[in-house]
Amino acid sequence: SKAKLFDQNTEVKTTFKDVAGLEGAKEEVQEIVDFLKNPEKYTSLGGKIPKGALLVGPPGTGKTLLAKAVAGEAKVPFFSLSGSDFVEMFVGVGASRVRDLFKQAKEKSPAIIFIDEIDAIGRARGKNAMSGSNDERENTLNQLLTEMDGFGTNTNVIVLAATNRADILDKALMRAGRFDRQIFVDLPDVRERKEIFEVHLRPLKKAKGLDIDFLSKQTPGFSGADIANVCNEAALIAARQGKKSVDKQDFLDAVDRIVGGLEKKNKIIT
Ligand code: ATP
Repeated sequence: SKAKLFDQNTEVKTTFKDVAGLEGAKEEVQEIVDFLKNPEKYTSLGGKIPKGALLVGPPGTGKTLLAKAVAGEAKVPFFSLSGSDFVEMFVGVGASRVRDLFKQAKEKSPAIIFIDEIDAIGRARGKNAMSGSNDERENTLNQLLTEMDGFGTNTNVIVLAATNRADILDKALMRAGRFDRQIFVDLPDVRERKEIFEVHLRPLKKAKGLDIDFLSKQTPGFSGADIANVCNEAALIAARQGKKSVDKQDFLDAVDRIVGGLEKKNKIIT
């Protein structure tokens, strides 16, 4: 529910199998899975395990999915919250909420903390002096920095954060011992879109001979979330017409509908 401070999932079922494409990003987060599963192996020579990594990329490209898959692969609990909810809903208590979140994660460690839309709390300080909630946001950000600095090397909590605006983040977040790694999660190319289609076509009753290459070629610029949307829409369109399976035309109609939605969204932004 919306009013929750943070979500806690102790039995994450998501694994790398659910994440299509993103080979480079998956390789990078595999290292984090290894740190969580086998910390002693990495600290035995005196090295320090990283505390945080930033997942950077456009909306809907699978950053949340990937973070969740890290927890699923490592079989550790997943604590998550969204920066924007935080700023909107926890006025006056942001810092103490951050404290609670880290306390709980440490108790359940090894664990993953995921902060979606970290830019909502992590924007560079000292900007936007007109906004009334600015002090509040800064307090929340400061608490986050304090918590990350406070972990010992053996705490074994790794913080993943997602943003599509790494450029506006406070540089203090990226300092060594904080989010000092950046992992890029880009829009899929045609080959990756095919893999994403394959994941999201799995639960659908597809018409015989449905051409997935064709669908992948028809969807340039689509994110993974857009493709998931297309598959779902296509199934609903087919069902509405009483069809027994989802065919090419249903997908084309769904693509049209999603493209229409995307155009509207872009109009509002510009
Ligand atoms: P945002 O920045 O908007 O929060 P995000 O990058 O965190 O987006 P997700 O929330 O992970 O994106 O993606 C939304 C949904 O889109 C996923 O739950 C999944 O169904 C689908 N999806 C996105 N990317 C992929 C992918 N690479 N493979 C499979 N499914 C994907």
